[in-house]
Amino acid sequence: SRGTTPVSPARQPRLTVLSGPSGVGKSTVVAHMRKVHPEVWLSVSATTRKPRPGEQHGIQYFFVDDGEFDKLVANGELLEWAEFAGNRYGTPRQAVLDRLERGEPVLLEIDLQGARQVRESMPEAQLVFLAPPSWEELVRRLTGRGTEAPEVIERRLEAARVELAAEKEFDLTLVNTSVEDVSRELLALMLDRSEERKTS
Ligand code: 5GP
Repeated sequence: SRGTTPVSPARQPRLTVLSGPSGVGKSTVVAHMRKVHPEVWLSVSATTRKPRPGEQHGIQYFFVDDGEFDKLVANGELLEWAEFAGNRYGTPRQAVLDRLERGEPVLLEIDLQGARQVRESMPEAQLVFLAPPSWEELVRRLTGRGTEAPEVIERRLEAARVELAAEKEFDLTLVNTSVEDVSRELLALMLDRSEERKTS
């Protein structure tokens, strides 16, 4: 169908956004991608969350304080940002634009609010929804995470119900049956798009 594809003036390489419900395993997929395909560039977000054990500044996130985050927002340095569970997270804009400019595929792993903002500001982005294999599996992951109180778990499940309904806003869905499979499919999606661009 390449021959019939209209030549678009907006010849931008694709930006791929991986999003989905909390607890579905987005960061595990991305960690796997990082390990198996270190050549793939992943956007590193800024966050006001404190580092977890093993997390390094500039690798998983740029860990910043509230004042620094305020400045990033005020200076328009974030492509999108959202508040999630009491912390703020945002995608540094320039690094993403630089990669796209060079024709390199870009992957963002962000929450649903962020994905919606990217949809608005960069309509050519490819939005991928990571879905749990089943509702039961998502419940298992959300409840098995720690030692939270029943009210906390109930709130998470209610949020997950709402989040699952967002799937229809996405271009496509990958079901997280195995980290290896999803990671492979995601990479194929990212590279297909960039190949299409190089040859079209
Ligand atoms: P965590 O604190 O567990 O690393 O991440 C919490 C949530 O924040 C996850 O759903 C993750 O996808 C999301 N997140 C991470 N970075 C960004 C970002 O730059 N923007 C947005 N909107 N969400 C992000």
